[in-house]
Formats: sequence, structure tokens, C-alpha cells
Amino acid sequence: MNEILEQKQQLVRCIRMLERSGIMDYNGHASIRLPEGRMLINIGNCQRSQLTVDDICTIDLDGNIIEGNGKPPLEFHLHAGVYKVRSDVDAVIHCHPNWSTILSTAGVEYLPVYAQGSLVYPLPVLDSPDSINNPVMAKRLTDSLGDGPAALMKAHGAATVGKTIVDAFVLLNYLEDNSQRQYMSAQIGTPYCFTAEELALCREKLWNDTLFKRTWDHFSAKLDAGA
Ligand SMILES: [Zn+2]
Repeated sequence: MNEILEQKQQLVRCIRMLERSGIMDYNGHASIRLPEGRMLINIGNCQRSQLTVDDICTIDLDGNIIEGNGKPPLEFHLHAGVYKVRSDVDAVIHCHPNWSTILSTAGVEYLPVYAQGSLVYPLPVLDSPDSINNPVMAKRLTDSLGDGPAALMKAHGAATVGKTIVDAFVLLNYLEDNSQRQYMSAQIGTPYCFTAEELALCREKLWNDTLFKRTWDHFSAKLDAGA
């Protein structure tokens, strides 16, 4: 199988898993960097739950379509902006998940209340709910992101980045799961926030390719099972 097709299939799987988990709604998008200033990204107008490789297009960093049917999402600027300034990143996901967005809408700081969720802590917040549909907003987002793996956008959504789409997918799941646990625990008490020592231990034990692959495989098997 050629490499581009394999990457398209991975992107399709990622988006379908996120949709099935309720993390991605009708607006989310994910991309994989290609050589020579190009990327694979899902077209804006597609059914995430029924996505196929035909819904993945190739664009350059200005949004020009190089291959594929349909137009990239209006927020392709977010992906292009990250690829311009982060040579360590080859995959980006952006969507509008409920729990983490509720935190930023309410102005509540994301806290590490769950081991896996600590991997994206501290989690910066872009102080604007505006769509990332132009280079100026993309710059604001990448400034907030810095050299980290994730950022929230106030009352809007979340973005995760990684060396691979597996990394970005797994981190988004951890981020959203942690946010839900933080929200729910705040309903009945005071959420327990991990200490610096506990955070260091979590990073040492949990940030590795084997565990990331296991998380991806868990959701991937559920997708195949129709669960
Ligand atoms: Zn958005």
C-alpha cells in the first residue's frame, strides 16, 4: 500500500474514533503533514461518522487544493500555522469537545486530576473564542500553544499536536477525559490536583509510544466492533 493512502486511512480512523467517542462534532478536523509544505486534511463538508479516504484532501499551507474533492475546513489556518512554527509536529487535531470547552467557557483552569490528563498540563488557553480562520488568529493560537502538546481556545475548543496522528489523538482523549473528571468531581467535592512529584512520575511512566499505541488500539478495536 502506498504511504499516502496509509496516512489517509489513519486520518479517517482518527476522525471516526473521535466522532464515535463524542469528542468531535460536525466541525472538527485533523491533519497530517506531508513533505514540501503540504498536508492531508479532511474536507470541511463531510460526515465525520461515515468518513472515507475520499473525504481527505491535500492542500498547501495557504489552503490551495492540490488533490481531492471538496474544500478544506475554514480553520485550516490553525493547522498551517502550527506546521509553520513547529518543526517537531507532523499531526494536528482541532475540535470543539464538551468538557474541556466547558472549563474554558467558565474560566476554570484545567487541573491535572487524572494520571493521563497530566500529560497536557499546564494547558494554555487562547483568550478568544474567535474561529481560527485567518493567519492572525492562527498566530495567536500558536503563540498560546508555545512548544507544548495542547491548547484550549476560550469558549471554543481544543487543539492537540504530535509527531504522529496517534500522539495527537491520544492526547486529545486524555485531555477531554481529565476535563470531564475535573468537572464531575467539582460537583461533589474539591477535585484532587496531582502534586509536582506525582506529575513527574506520570510523565515518566505514561509518555511512551507503547502506551499511546495501546490507547489508540483500544478505540480502534471499538470502532471495528461497532461498539
Ligand atoms: Zn474551531
